[in-house]
Amino acid sequence: MILPQYDQRCGWYELLNNVSDFPELTNDIDVDVLVVGAGFVGCAAARRIAENRPDDSVLLIDALKVGQGASGRNSGFVIDQPHKRDLESNDELLKEKIVRLNRVAIEYLETQIERFAIDCQWSRAGKYQAAVGARGNKLLDHYESLLRKNKESFHRLSRDELREVFGTEYYTAAIHTPGGALMQPASLMRGLADTMPENVKIAERTAVQSITRKGPGFEIITAKARVSCRQLILGTNVFTAELGYMADRILPIMTFASMTAPLSDAQLRCFGGQMDWGITPADHGGTTVRMTQDRRLIIRNSYRYAHDYNTPQDLIPGIAERHRDAFIARYPHLSDVSFEFTWGGTSGLSGNFETYFGELEKNVFASCCDQSVGAARGTISGMMLADMASGLKTELLDDMKIVSGKPSRLPPKPLLRVGVPMRLAMARMASRSEV
Ligand SMILES: Cc1cc2nc3c(=O)[nH]c(=O)nc-3n(C[C@H](O)[C@H](O)[C@H](O)COP(=O)(O)OP(=O)(O)OC[C@H]3O[C@@H](n4cnc5c(N)ncnc54)[C@H](O)[C@@H]3O)c2cc1C
Repeated sequence: MILPQYDQRCGWYELLNNVSDFPELTNDIDVDVLVVGAGFVGCAAARRIAENRPDDSVLLIDALKVGQGASGRNSGFVIDQPHKRDLESNDELLKEKIVRLNRVAIEYLETQIERFAIDCQWSRAGKYQAAVGARGNKLLDHYESLLRKNKESFHRLSRDELREVFGTEYYTAAIHTPGGALMQPASLMRGLADTMPENVKIAERTAVQSITRKGPGFEIITAKARVSCRQLILGTNVFTAELGYMADRILPIMTFASMTAPLSDAQLRCFGGQMDWGITPADHGGTTVRMTQDRRLIIRNSYRYAHDYNTPQDLIPGIAERHRDAFIARYPHLSDVSFEFTWGGTSGLSGNFETYFGELEKNVFASCCDQSVGAARGTISGMMLADMASGLKTELLDDMKIVSGKPSRLPPKPLLRVGVPMRLAMARMASRSEV
C-alpha cells in the first residue's frame, strides 16, 4: 500500500511558525464518524459533521501533519469560476450551479478565517488569466466570450496596465475575475485544524492501513491503534484507490511550484505596490505566477504522471531549472532573486473529467478527482459529504450531486505510464508560449 510522504521542500509549510501538534493515535478508539485525510475535503467534512451533529464524536486523521498534503502545497487560488471542460460546457445551468457551490465554499472558508482570526494571507484579490502573444490573446478572447455568455463580471487589462501590477512586459493582455480568493494554503489548513469544534479529535502522522466492515460499522487499522466507527468519510483524493475504492479511475497527476526568497525593497520597485495577486495562464499548460503578501513570487508549471503519488526527489533540480527559465523570461531584471523552495504535489484527474462525490457503499462517503481545483471544490464537497452523511436534504446537496459524476475506468497502469507522459509532452509543446 502506498502512503503519503512529505519531502520537506514545500515552502508554504516550511515557513510556518509554531506548528501545533496533534499526537499520533496510539490507543484504540470508538467514534461515530472517522474522517480520513485532513485536506480541503476532510477538514470541511469534519467541521461540518461536528456542527450538524454536536453530540456525535468525530475523529479526523491524516498520515502526514495537516498542511503537508496537496491541500497545503498548492498555489493558493480559491477559484469560483468553473474550470476547463466545465467552463466550456453548453449546459448553462450546470455552470451556474458550479459557480454557486464554489462561492458557498469561499464564504464558508472566509467565515472560519474571520471567526477564528486565522492568519493565512486570505485576500479577495480575485484572479488574473493572462496571455502571452497572439495565441494566448486568442485563448483569452474565447475565455472572455464564455464569461460574457455566463454573465460573469470581469475586467480586461491592456499590456500597460499589466506592467503596472505585475512588474513585467511579458504579458500581452489579461482578464481579471473578482470572485475568487488567494491564501497561504499551509497556514489555512493548520488554522482550520487548530479551530475544529470540540467534538472533533485530530490525530496526525496516523495512516490508515486497512478498512474492514464489522457489523453495522467499520474497523480501521492504523500502525498503533484500531478505530471503530459507524460512518467513514474519505478525503484521501488520489490515495482513495489505495484504500480499495475507485481503483483504476483516479489519474494521479503531479504539478510543481517554486518560491523565491522575499523580495527586497529595491527588487519590489518594479511592481505597482499591489502585494497579493495571482496569474493563471491563458493556456492551462502554461505557468501560474503569484505574489504573496510576504513579498515572495511563486512559479508553478510542469505536469507528471505520478503513478506512486509522491515526489521523486531526483526530479526537483530539473523542475527548479524549468521554473527558473519561466521566472527569468518574465523578470530578467530580477535575475538576482533566488528560489528558496521547489516542491511537487499530486491531485486527482479523471479520464472523462468527472469529479466523484457520493456514497461509495453504505456509510462510506468520499469525494475525489477534483481536476486539480480542490480548494473551493474540495471544501464544498467535504461540507456536502457531511450533510449527506447526516441525512440532510438540501438544494446545495442536490446541486453537488448534479455537478458530479463517475470518473471513467482508465487503461491499465503500464499503458498509462507510456500514454500519459506522451499526452503531457504534447500539451506542453502546444502551450509552450505560455510556459
Ligand atoms: C503545486 C500545486 C498547485 C495547485 N494549485 C491549486 C490552486 O491554486 N487552487 C486549487 O483549487 N487547487 C490547486 N491544486 C490542487 C489542490 O491542491 C487539490 O485539488 C486539493 O488539495 C485536493 O484536496 P483533497 O482534500 O481532496 O485532497 P488532499 O489535499 O490530497 O488530501 C488528502 C489527504 O489524505 C491523506 N491520506 C492519504 N492516504 C491516507 C491514509 N492511508 N491514511 C491517512 N491519511 C491519508 C493525505 O496525507 C492528505 O493529507 C494544486 C495542486 C498542486 C500540487
